[in-house]
Amino acid sequence: MTRALVLGGIADASLLAAEIARAGIDAVYSYGGRTRAPADQPLPTRIGGFGGVSGLADYIRRNGITHVIDATHPFAAEISRNAIEACAKTGTPLIALERAPWTRAPGDNWIEVGDVAAAAAALPETPAHVFLAIGRQHIAPFGARPQHAYTLRFVDPPEAPLPFAADVIVSRGPFTLDGELEMMRMRGINWIVARNSGGDGARAKIDAAHRLGLPVIMISRPTLPERLRVESVAEVMQWLGHRTPLGA
Ligand code: NAP
Repeated sequence: MTRALVLGGIADASLLAAEIARAGIDAVYSYGGRTRAPADQPLPTRIGGFGGVSGLADYIRRNGITHVIDATHPFAAEISRNAIEACAKTGTPLIALERAPWTRAPGDNWIEVGDVAAAAAALPETPAHVFLAIGRQHIAPFGARPQHAYTLRFVDPPEAPLPFAADVIVSRGPFTLDGELEMMRMRGINWIVARNSGGDGARAKIDAAHRLGLPVIMISRPTLPERLRVESVAEVMQWLGHRTPLGA
């Protein structure tokens, strides 16, 4: 009998949870516990780390998990690496649900870098208004570039003081092209730092930068070991052995 573990935390994971619940497949949804009030899921939910590879392997064994779906954010590399190892250890099939990264279109002004430190180093010397579209736990390197005025955007208000002065927007989204254009114009944003998350949800800021002809420092995804990867919820459902009924 199938019993799936969905490692979640992104919009696609919620879409998948809804499909799994609709199909009546036994499953558990797991949150990492970073967001204070995570969205309700239509599946039994657990919150918080497993305790590394061995903790995850134990969880899989103890809970009779037959399939693991890694639907975590493409930059959540630690849990994805742990899932690869824990599934190999326990002989559990693993699939990753991950949108393709964005690719540069004609007219895009991107500077592609490998990590956050390189992104901070890629900012100009002259003072700029920078929209830093990255998680709060990654912002420290920008403290070394204090000549810039930073705008940050988080899902929850920061609990601890930030390592440098910045304007903070608290919003969960969704973000639209018009909304992003207005935000960037209002704040005089002239540089953007973003991670190449891919997908539609976070894309509006990249489209807005394109429209406004602004430079984007684009941080590439971390590299992971080879694993089965698909881009759509429907492909995961097929992998779980669910066939869409005729006429549905
Ligand atoms: P990470 O660096 O890969 O993971 C750090 C640790 O958090 C993992 O080793 C694991 O702890 C725990 N963890 C992460 N995701 C988990 C999950 N779904 N269920 C149970 N434990 C989980 O990940 P992160 O960048 O901190 O992201 C944490 C969560 O937020 C992920 O679920 C991710 O999908 C979501 N998220 C992340 C981003 C982002 O920008 N990174 C954006 C949107 C959503 P143990 O080793 O103790 O098991």
